[in-house]
Amino acid sequence: MELEDKVSLVTGASRGIGRAIALKLASLGSKVAINYREGEVAANSVVREIVSQDREAISVKADVADSKAVKAMMQKVNAEWGKIDILVNNAGITRDNLLLRMPDKAWDDVLNTNLRGAYLCTKFALRPMIKQQWGRIISVASIAGLIGNAGQTNYSASKAGIIAFTKSVAREVGSRNITANAVAPGFIKTQMTEKLPDAIKESILSMTSLRRFGEPEDVAEVVAFLASDRASYITGQVISIDGGI
Ligand code: NAP
Repeated sequence: MELEDKVSLVTGASRGIGRAIALKLASLGSKVAINYREGEVAANSVVREIVSQDREAISVKADVADSKAVKAMMQKVNAEWGKIDILVNNAGITRDNLLLRMPDKAWDDVLNTNLRGAYLCTKFALRPMIKQQWGRIISVASIAGLIGNAGQTNYSASKAGIIAFTKSVAREVGSRNITANAVAPGFIKTQMTEKLPDAIKESILSMTSLRRFGEPEDVAEVVAFLASDRASYITGQVISIDGGI
């Protein structure tokens, strides 16, 4: 119960990696706000799963790219529990295309959700963290943000942005006992990766030392560690969870 008395907000927690993170944080005693944009039914089922384990959870609808919606989401969590201790910037999308064929909208949508979303959520969550002199900001980047990926210039740029953003936030708020770290998953089995062609999946698998794809829980374990007091002297870091690509 190392996160007992803590309040966490996980963006994009209706399914996939965000869902696994929310369940893990709740299992360690945290109250958890489950953010989603469209998947109300899925988000509410994550809430029910947590509540059935005698923990507290609420669902909060907000498009993380929308400043007003993010502000309202933070107000809702604060009204419910009076604070936010742990922010997990997980919401993310892909709109893959080769650069020469990339529609401007695909570029803007990915940058707005993945990078602007993390910027807005972090900005609004920081003030109460600064007041209470404790906070954890954990953002889900990607291996694509470290090494790039053909067909994902928009996604890779957003994830590299998350990494530089995280390192800068860590420098800005370290003196207030707030840490900011990122995780960089490789291929994790979720709806996001399900739609990739088999040939791409096989090629990723052949590059993966452990010769298997990751599970959302593999990411959730590291996020839970970074959220805990055991990680209190780690900040500005990017931890890869990629099976050794
Ligand atoms: P996923 O299964 O597609 O889930 C994405 C989640 O984000 C959903 O809950 C979705 O909710 C939410 N979301 C999308 N746009 C949103 C918005 N504008 N505002 C609020 N919520 C939004 O994806 P995943 O694989 O779990 O990915 C989670 C994170 O891990 C992403 O940041 C992704 O880039 C990163 N990642 C994934 C992998 C992988 O292999 N899967 C690898 C590296 C990094 P709604 O359905 O309600 O829209």
